Amino acid sequence: MGRFSASHHGNKLSSAAWEQQRARAAAQFAAHGACLTPFREAVLQQIACCPQPLGAYDIAARLSGELGKAVAPNSVYRVLDVLIACDVVRRVESKQAYCLADPSVGPGSILLMCEGCGSVEAVEASGIEDAVNQQTEAAHFRAVRKVIEVTGICQSCDEAGQGDTA
Ligand SMILES: [Zn+2]
Repeated sequence: MGRFSASHHGNKLSSAAWEQQRARAAAQFAAHGACLTPFREAVLQQIACCPQPLGAYDIAARLSGELGKAVAPNSVYRVLDVLIACDVVRRVESKQAYCLADPSVGPGSILLMCEGCGSVEAVEASGIEDAVNQQTEAAHFRAVRKVIEVTGICQSCDEAGQGDTA
């Protein structure tokens, strides 16, 4: 209790933090035999610099504004497919939006989505993954996609009292 935590909520990414993200993405792309093109990097930067998950149309609109030319959502979708395949970005299914993939949590993770600030955090939950696997197998159901996303109030919003109105 009383532990100081430097909140990133609502803040733009510092250039050092973005450099770190960019370097990690470039390494992930190389590992997947892909290339981090300037346009892919521009899409990634929009996602990295926003504390909340962004939809493809939002990304297209922001890029159109920044680049001073129309960017089609379809071209953003194509880039998002690559970013997801390279494990740099993950899709937030219930919001139809995209956030950075957290390299420290494995594929058996669940997303915690704050209704106060809109932040999304992935947490390890392999026990839940195992339970879902057991139940689907017991039901002779061939699972294709397993999405577990939890809405609620994050710690910093809770401490700021924003959870009281929920
Ligand atoms: Zn929050």
